[in-house]
Amino acid sequence: MTIKRVLVTGGAGFLGSHLCERLIERGHDVICVDNFFTSQKTNVQHLLDHHNFELLRHDITHPLWLEVDEIYNLACPAAPGHYQYNPIKTMKTSVMGAINMLGMAKRCNARILQASTSEVYGDPEVHPQPESYRGNVNPIGPRACYDEGKRAAETLFMDYYRKHRLDIRIVRIFNTYGPRMHPFDGRVVSNFIRQALAGEDITIFGDGSQTRSFCYRDDLVEGLIRLMETEGEGMHLPMNIGNPGEFTIRQLAELTIELTGSKSKLVFEPLPEDDPTQRQPTIARAERMLGWRPTVPLREGLARTIEYFRSINLSDFRAPTPNY
Ligand code: NAD
Ligand code: UDP
Repeated sequence: MTIKRVLVTGGAGFLGSHLCERLIERGHDVICVDNFFTSQKTNVQHLLDHHNFELLRHDITHPLWLEVDEIYNLACPAAPGHYQYNPIKTMKTSVMGAINMLGMAKRCNARILQASTSEVYGDPEVHPQPESYRGNVNPIGPRACYDEGKRAAETLFMDYYRKHRLDIRIVRIFNTYGPRMHPFDGRVVSNFIRQALAGEDITIFGDGSQTRSFCYRDDLVEGLIRLMETEGEGMHLPMNIGNPGEFTIRQLAELTIELTGSKSKLVFEPLPEDDPTQRQPTIARAERMLGWRPTVPLREGLARTIEYFRSINLSDFRAPTPNY
């Protein structure tokens, strides 16, 4: 295998830090760029002594000059509470960040992968969602800064591909969870586990009948690396990576209570505006083109994530925003 210089933006985050670990193990020269908005240095502290790892505090809305062979563009707040805190900045990160990273990729002739999202499908009317579905996004709602930012980034990637023959990859990531999620990110898995372990009420938004399909972190990162490293026709087109196992939010709450042995009660709170009612990936393309499929079922991945939450000290983490 050729050793490459690999840039990971958002490399100190939940998915980015695990990706950096995996790339370091593979012998690559890894540069992690992050502004630490929704993460902290402790996520990558254990990597700092590796000769093939470098950490750079930088905001990707500003230009950056590096020499690299591959770029994984993951920098962007991902939890609703984080991306809605400063929605204009979220849009800038997706759009200006993409422009800056695409410019670098063009100059270096590097392959570049964009971390897109199932949110490009909005509140989907087609179920499950294949990559060909164009989505149902409210362009003026509270989630639009993220959804439309990610959609614009996909547009930019495709235009760089068409105009400059840039070597691109676009991955549409579905809800992913696992160890090193920020305990105060406000996402459903971290909220439920934290609440269950503390014996607090479990906050279900709406009646809990909305669905999500939860992918374990390690499966997801394996998919990212395969997508980046696989050659072939049509590899520039968006690819769903996620676990097709679909659960209602109520089922997730009940499973969390069972696995933690908690006495927490379920409480019901108002559903946030534009909260998607259903979400499940079609992964036929990933299976066919990458030979990839998830291996960790929710019960097992959730148990591992609960172990992680039991092992951390919550006071070591600061909530990135006042509202999580
Ligand atoms: P995360 O918040 O843990 O990681 C994002 C990282 O990007 C953080 O370390 C943050 O500090 C950094 N960042 C944010 N804005 C930045 C900027 N302007 N410049 C430099 N760094 C910046 O979230 P994550 O779950 O690890 O998500 C990683 C990527 O995957 C994101 O692009 C997200 O949109 C995408 N994604 C994640 C999921 C999921 O379920 N985890 C689902 C769909 C898409
Ligand atoms: N949710 C919930 N209780 C919480 C946090 C989230 O019921 O404490 C719901 C939320 O309304 C959504 C689902 O869980 O329907 C997933 O939310 P999350 O913020 O994890 O991600 P999303 O998929 O909505 O971006």
